[in-house]
Amino acid sequence: MSDRRDRELGLDRPITRRDFLNGVALGSAGVLLTPRVVLALDRYPPALTGLRGSHDGSFEAAHALKDGVFWDSAGSPRDTGEVYDLVVVGAGISGLAAAHFFREAAGPRSRVLILDNHDDFGGHARRNEFTLDGRVLIGYGGTFAIDSAGPWSAVAKALVRDLGVDVGRLRAVVDEALYPSLGMTRGIFFDRETFGADRLMSEPRLAWFGENEPREATAPPASATEWTAFLARAPLSEAARRDLLRLRQETVDYLPGLTSEEKKARLARMSYADFVTKIAGGHPDVLPFFQARPHSLYGVGIDAVPAQDAWAMGYPGFQGMGLEKGPAPGMNLDAIPWADPEPYFFHFPDGNATLARLLVRRLIPAAIPGRTADDIVTARADESDIVNGLESGADDYLTKPFGIPELVARIRSALRRATHSERPGTMAPFESDGLKVDYGAAEVSVKGEPVKFTATEYRLIRYLSQNAGRVLLPDQILEEVWGPEYVGDEHLVRVYISRIRKKIEDDPRNPKFIITRSGVGYLMKKAEGA
Ligand SMILES: Cc1cc2nc3c(=O)[nH]c(=O)nc-3n(C[C@H](O)[C@H](O)[C@H](O)COP(=O)(O)OP(=O)(O)OC[C@H]3O[C@@H](n4cnc5c(N)ncnc54)[C@H](O)[C@@H]3O)c2cc1C
Repeated sequence: MSDRRDRELGLDRPITRRDFLNGVALGSAGVLLTPRVVLALDRYPPALTGLRGSHDGSFEAAHALKDGVFWDSAGSPRDTGEVYDLVVVGAGISGLAAAHFFREAAGPRSRVLILDNHDDFGGHARRNEFTLDGRVLIGYGGTFAIDSAGPWSAVAKALVRDLGVDVGRLRAVVDEALYPSLGMTRGIFFDRETFGADRLMSEPRLAWFGENEPREATAPPASATEWTAFLARAPLSEAARRDLLRLRQETVDYLPGLTSEEKKARLARMSYADFVTKIAGGHPDVLPFFQARPHSLYGVGIDAVPAQDAWAMGYPGFQGMGLEKGPAPGMNLDAIPWADPEPYFFHFPDGNATLARLLVRRLIPAAIPGRTADDIVTARADESDIVNGLESGADDYLTKPFGIPELVARIRSALRRATHSERPGTMAPFESDGLKVDYGAAEVSVKGEPVKFTATEYRLIRYLSQNAGRVLLPDQILEEVWGPEYVGDEHLVRVYISRIRKKIEDDPRNPKFIITRSGVGYLMKKAEGA
């Protein structure tokens, strides 16, 4: 670490959770979040409205770092006792996928902490929900589709498949006739700054692939009559109207004497704007009509997009040039329809937010109820439901849809545990510093005052206190208190220990009865005189 500024920012130090905490929402894979953190998320971010990009609360810490005042308000570092096998910064698709692949390699018991500066996961792939007249409308807050100009890697394809997404089902789940059946078409907006008048018009279909449209869309281009009627109303100069129609209609070879291959090579080295004005003789007033169209794919306008690409995407002017179909040197992948032999295009109602949600479900199954790529669309992502349920005394949490055999097995398991816990104890009570666990009466009291414990909480404190002075591993605790089928669910232990601390400790953040041994387990302080 050579740079003083980097050191000031703390980049030379090992990553600790606290470094990211200022204004940061946390997601954790492999563990449920501590109730303290989860319950702070008392809102459901997808349903919040307003400008939900980098919202208030997501940028202040970074601004403070930039202004050099971060440490003034950051508070003093505190060891939370938490240890992770992997810390991921950024809960977008990359971060979530990194956590997923890590756990695949390191095993389900590995602990991963994912940090993000926003109150929702997904990064650019976030979800928006709106309630209108009692109906929930789902939209995408960012990235729209599983799509790529280039062939997808085997790893990416395998992940999408593994998450249960069948990209070939688009046709079956999307009603492509919906908008036409409602009399709706693509529109074009002429803005006053460019065209002298604000005008929103229904646009006749050119042959080119529309942005955000499956490339195999086969609706025929609009007729010359439709184009003439459209141009007559468009806020364009006479010259632009004339040349747009000409470009759309005429079948002229503007590069005579060259082979198809030679023409393509020339077109690959000139912009579409140059082709229109310098090769096809179009008036410069035509250019604004096309200028912004490639923005969503290329991020630049037709003055920077090669004419060869414009031809491949169906822009007009090439009808008479005898160009042989197919890719050619210099062509960008975005212009090569289905460079991938598989038609790899799919989108969910919330765009790629569903991929983020499927990854979160894989990491924390209880966080988003359901099991398939279909049911996740309507599921609500909310860990706090689960933690709230456990906090208010539930012994277990089963997410929908569930099978009856699983439900019955869980009820049996709960009954077994309840029966055991009710068996009168024969050991002498545990007593330490005002805390008393009376095994005979199955009661806990603090400074003589009885404290209400749920059956699971009681089993936990009984096990800890009967083993006071010994460090107990989370899996030991799970097996003894919940049953062998729960081994690996360390978050349960953390949630319950936290609940018990709130009931018996003066300061649950600095516990004196149940001590966390970082990365190992939990230890109950020995009884007085023991
Ligand atoms: C306009 C637009 C449209 C797009 N459309 C598509 C599309 O249709 N299909 C498609 O596949 N791709 C699309 N993309 C690309 C898309 O953004 C990516 O495919 C993908 O969503 C990026 O995921 P990511 O995890 O790499 O980054 P991001 O989604 O940006 O996630 C990174 C996360 O890390 C957080 N972060 C960064 N630094 C820190 C820090 N120091 N501490 C804490 N958190 C931090 C960020 O705030 C963010 O939440 C589009 C991109 C844009 C800009």
